Amino acid sequence: MTALTNLLDLDSAQLIAYCGELGEKPFRAKQLQRWIHQFGASDFDAMTDLAKSLRDKLSTRAMIASPAVLKDHTARDGTRKWLLDVGQGNAVETVFIPEENRGTLCISTQAGCAVNCRFCSTGKQGFNRNLSVSEIIGQLWMAEFELRKSKSIEPGPKGERQITNVVMMGMGEPLLNFEPTVTALKLMLDDNAYGLSRRRVTLSTSGVVPMMDKLSQECPVALAVSLHASNDELRNSLVPLNKKYPLHELMAACKRYLEYAPRDFVTFEYCMLDGVNDTDAHAQELIALVKNPRDSAQSVSCKFNLIPFNPFPESGLKRSHDERIKAFARILSNAGIVTTVRKTRGDDIDAACGQLAGEVQDRTQVQARMEKMAEYQKKFGSNFGRIVEIVK
Ligand code: SF4
Repeated sequence: MTALTNLLDLDSAQLIAYCGELGEKPFRAKQLQRWIHQFGASDFDAMTDLAKSLRDKLSTRAMIASPAVLKDHTARDGTRKWLLDVGQGNAVETVFIPEENRGTLCISTQAGCAVNCRFCSTGKQGFNRNLSVSEIIGQLWMAEFELRKSKSIEPGPKGERQITNVVMMGMGEPLLNFEPTVTALKLMLDDNAYGLSRRRVTLSTSGVVPMMDKLSQECPVALAVSLHASNDELRNSLVPLNKKYPLHELMAACKRYLEYAPRDFVTFEYCMLDGVNDTDAHAQELIALVKNPRDSAQSVSCKFNLIPFNPFPESGLKRSHDERIKAFARILSNAGIVTTVRKTRGDDIDAACGQLAGEVQDRTQVQARMEKMAEYQKKFGSNFGRIVEIVK
């Protein structure tokens, strides 16, 4: 028996090709796509304007399925978090954040993450695998129609849309899972699917420079960069990928990206870590990094989003004090940079940034390596395994 094709894996061109294989005209693919992504249908029999013969063919060869929900929690502030089963003992998280005039969905693109940022609990779990298109777009599909169902809002374009913004800031580095991520992005923007505007879909990257360039050519959605440090030495220790793509390369890539999205800006995410990256001097370094006082055309058009760190035990890091965060924000604002401080949401269900933990079968053995390192440091001193400067 051949496996069923999951239609959530297909973008519009692929769906047209698939329908062509079944002897159907392209307009049938458009109808089918609307049933899937605008009505949330998973039952071919409900697709009443499709010929019975096509529905019969589809029901024996295809399916429409997002990852199964393992847990579904709603926090006191309305933040809703789903834990989704992506097979082989792996789970990823999707979080809906309701606000007054919008609803934002934060989605995952990988089971775990190989980048291993020091302040991120996802990174601490290591990496298992990339998610497929159906596992990525399936998060939006499931959440939109689940939210509508729980509020008795009809599916279809007439019903009030629940998710107005999508951020790829959940588990994983989206640009290290490029093709499925871009296919899912294209479906989000497709008028025959979710029809979200380019500026309402944000991809967050830790700075995979070549892939930022590729994204600018293929689907230049809003860009957020996990910056977290104002100089290379500090960033090397917080975001290891910086050793490969240091700050001057990253800033140049941001400028190139904006050439393809000229009215946009880059959002720099900056996790506020007590005594690590939160001094006045760090703020001044950031200003120098993004602004060129002699030639404003050489500055990076940007805004800063300061994120109060959510401590977790293995990190050994602490959240900056509120007063420090305010003072830091003031320095950036006084330099003419739009700066916001992220409200932490869903604290009571661990849905705040960097806490999208899920459960991952760690192929990269990060946990084991960390435990080994802690054991050796206990035995041989805290500098074991670190590059230390020898002062003569
Ligand atoms: S912050 Fe993002 S890129 Fe860094 S480890 Fe966490 S999920 Fe990966």
